[in-house]
Amino acid sequence: MIYLDNHATTPVDPRVLDAMLPHFRERFGNPSSRSHRFGWEADEAVERARAQVAKLLGADPREIVFTSGASEANNLALKGAAARSGNRGNHIVASPVEHPSVRETIEHLLAKGIEVTWLPVDPEGRVRPADVAAAITPRTFLVTVMTANNEIGTVQPVREIGRIAAERKILFHTDATQGVGKVPFDVRADGVHLAALTAHKIYGPKGVGALHVRMGIEIERQTHGGGQERGLRAGTLNVPAIVGLGAACEICRLEREQESARTANLRDRLRMRLGDVRVNGPERERLPGNLHVSFPGIDAESLMLAVPEVAVSSGSACASGSMEISHVLKAIGMNPELAKSSIRFGLGRYTTEAEVDEASDLFVAAVRRLRKVARR
Ligand code: PLP
Repeated sequence: MIYLDNHATTPVDPRVLDAMLPHFRERFGNPSSRSHRFGWEADEAVERARAQVAKLLGADPREIVFTSGASEANNLALKGAAARSGNRGNHIVASPVEHPSVRETIEHLLAKGIEVTWLPVDPEGRVRPADVAAAITPRTFLVTVMTANNEIGTVQPVREIGRIAAERKILFHTDATQGVGKVPFDVRADGVHLAALTAHKIYGPKGVGALHVRMGIEIERQTHGGGQERGLRAGTLNVPAIVGLGAACEICRLEREQESARTANLRDRLRMRLGDVRVNGPERERLPGNLHVSFPGIDAESLMLAVPEVAVSSGSACASGSMEISHVLKAIGMNPELAKSSIRFGLGRYTTEAEVDEASDLFVAAVRRLRKVARR
């Protein structure tokens, strides 16, 4: 099997696993235990990981709140900020291509008196900063635009949006899940107040992530209980997973540039070898490992069945199981016919040139077969 679905999840880097293992065995302590060595060691490990996450984001370690992943981080950011918006307003400006953990959280907040303006995007899925500026009203307290899209790989103009948010004195939340560790991202330089990420998209374990909360920004906790994570997220910390997240972030910080260049090269090779396909999403400003293409006249589900050796995704894995065309493809105005002929390839750290060559050969051959059958 060839794995080309790295936007859905990534395998754990062996270096990450090695860092985690002692925390399942001898270093099993609870970081909240203050009275013995087991607790102190666990606490030290968590704080080391917090510093590693912060360093990758250009943040202060005190700004990192560990969560179960990006979905929880997005929920905490949006619900937490809405609960504290007070007399600043009740209006959110949001991109229409967000992950369900942002979109559905906003839908939920609408029933609680929050209002939203869904922005348009250009045909490549990009939010125009001028549209953000135009959508802000005196009642706006927050703008949310993801760092990079999980389906068509569009990297958003985060820094320009951050600048607008700063000028207008509103909060800027970004779901950085797909962008972190792949494209340049720095919460200070980008003017981000709240940023969500998850370990399993950056070669760390599943079920752990973080929310960055800029110093001085108040959000309301969404879990009550012990006072962990400065009272923002109750529950005994998942130490091995947090250590894994920290190690994954450290590797990304040191290797991102080189790795992204390699992945983008392989992606371009794949694109070339696929031949006559339509590429969706941007030419530039695109996630290095992302290739989203339509095979006109071919049903993507049939095509995937015809190439069982390659793991890819049609539309978005986050929305799999639904027969509707994805909200992202809808937002860029793609017709349903073309959308249903689309496949997302997600290349990653362990993708090899030989795999790209084999996968493209298999797809090209399968497309030829399916076209022949269709002509009969
Ligand atoms: N945001 C984006 C852009 C994603 O691609 C995903 C992927 O699943 C998530 C959020 C959710 O992350 P998690 O699985 O950690 O909840």
